[in-house]
Amino acid sequence: MAEGKFATSISCMDGRIQIPVNTWIKKNYLVDFVDTITAPGVEKKISESTNVEQIKSMIEISIYKHKSSVIVISGHHDCAGNPVSKEEQVSQISKGIQNIKSWNYDAQVIGIWINDNWEVEKVS
Ligand SMILES: [Zn+2]
Repeated sequence: MAEGKFATSISCMDGRIQIPVNTWIKKNYLVDFVDTITAPGVEKKISESTNVEQIKSMIEISIYKHKSSVIVISGHHDCAGNPVSKEEQVSQISKGIQNIKSWNYDAQVIGIWINDNWEVEKVS
């Protein structure tokens, strides 16, 4: 069993967001490590529930092997993989939260959006 507390981040592959997302999750959920699952524009895939089997299998490693207690789905400003407005991304993130909750993992599900200053805004 891995030692330390884990969270699970489902984020875009964009290199500009990795450190802000990781830092925000560690600070707000008091975890030691953030398992990171990435794909371009991943919030769109999860909101539409298309091709999510591989993402689910990665989440399950984080949840069952690392006992992650929180899953964070994010979207961000200037996303090449999902070039839509902030409002549309936030709506996809909200739908994504509902879809992940429906997968019934024993973990909190949180949504965040990373703005043009690479700061994290919580999506409720
Ligand atoms: Zn992106």
